[in-house]
Amino acid sequence: MNALPPRTSRIMHRGAVPPPIAVGGHGVWLVEQGGREILDASGGAAVSCLGHGHPRVIEAIKRQAETLAYAHTGFFSSEPAEALAENLVGHEPGGLAAVYFVSGGSEAVEAALKLARQYVLEIGQPRRTHFIARRQSYHGNTLGALSAGGNAWRREPYAPLLSPAFSHVSPPLAYHEQRPGEDEAGFVARLAAELEAEFQRLGPDTVAAFVAETVGGATAGCVTAPAGYYRAMREVCDRHGALLILDEVMCGMGRTGTLHAWEQEGVSPDIQTVAKGLGGGYQPIGAVLVSRKVRDAIAAGTGAFQHGHTYLAHPTACAAALAVQTVLREENLLANVVAMGERLEQGLVERFGNHRHVGDIRGRGLFRAIELVADRGGKAAFEPGHKLHLRIKQEAFARGLACYPSGGTADGVRGDHVLLAPPFIASPAEIDLIVERLGEAV
Ligand code: PMP
Repeated sequence: MNALPPRTSRIMHRGAVPPPIAVGGHGVWLVEQGGREILDASGGAAVSCLGHGHPRVIEAIKRQAETLAYAHTGFFSSEPAEALAENLVGHEPGGLAAVYFVSGGSEAVEAALKLARQYVLEIGQPRRTHFIARRQSYHGNTLGALSAGGNAWRREPYAPLLSPAFSHVSPPLAYHEQRPGEDEAGFVARLAAELEAEFQRLGPDTVAAFVAETVGGATAGCVTAPAGYYRAMREVCDRHGALLILDEVMCGMGRTGTLHAWEQEGVSPDIQTVAKGLGGGYQPIGAVLVSRKVRDAIAAGTGAFQHGHTYLAHPTACAAALAVQTVLREENLLANVVAMGERLEQGLVERFGNHRHVGDIRGRGLFRAIELVADRGGKAAFEPGHKLHLRIKQEAFARGLACYPSGGTADGVRGDHVLLAPPFIASPAEIDLIVERLGEAV
């Protein structure tokens, strides 16, 4: 446990007890007050893709702060913002052709939802006010993003949120949702039929978009969809003229081994959100990537997206994100994500494959999770209320390992996970140490 005495603090922290203070970081290591080093196995929350103290990112921030720290976007664009936008969508990946910058993930989701609503107005379909999302999902903590999320315990204190604009269908989480004897194709067909039924229930011409995390993260523990799932969901959306919004705030920007997780799914979104790894933890930044179809409809209609934030497209944030992108490319880090991701998976399978209380090991690239259960056979959570992942976080922290506790539902059945999302620069020895320390903690 933390060797330093408990503190008081004026900050309204996330937990009842103020956390220890981080004072430094280098590579995959964080340093807390007192000098103890902690292996950052979660990259914060899948944020620190280049680790801590990367000289090229630091240099880019310094240079930009000296040149131009801020210019309001009501008056100006800036060189780093233009360069970053060009870098992200200049080659129009999957038909994504324009960027709207924000300061983080929740803001990106809010902007994506509003963009979809503005789009349906522009094309003369104002009845499309509904969004269909998925249970056990997380899209952020602002009111709109929380309404989109299907995380029961986070939603509960703020109910009824922005209902009835949002409804939820089943996640593509094979471990819990796939029925005994059902093959993958049958599972996908059933999920697509459920989405179709939800369109019919709401009225197909009232749905603006289907919203999903390409690989589910914070509340579902790295849910990779079965093959063909996104193509099937896209088909349903296309049939009814609804948009596909993919939230890649957590799983995007290289975390699963390709820059965008959807590249591995055979579909591309109409609107996509990114954040976390975009700034690599060096600056708060998020973005909405917008397809040519949506951009052109808005350009031909109102002419502009009717939305704005004071800090959007902040020059030092854009400069940092641009440097992160450059390092990813020049240091060929996505190859390391794939290689270290496989090593991590193998380590987890060796360590936990037969563990009584580990029901599932899942994920992709350097985005992996274990699901904790009372008994491997039963799949029920270890204890109702899902506090075990918090206990493991504590036990791991005491052993010098920061891992991300991920909890989801309030049904007492599922929702206890430990998520691992180390920086892309992790070495084989560091990956092995993550598994070793997590093994001790569990
Ligand atoms: N969407 C997803 C998929 C996320 O994982 C998160 C954060 N965990 C958010 C949105 C919200 O991002 P932020 O915390 O930066 O507001």
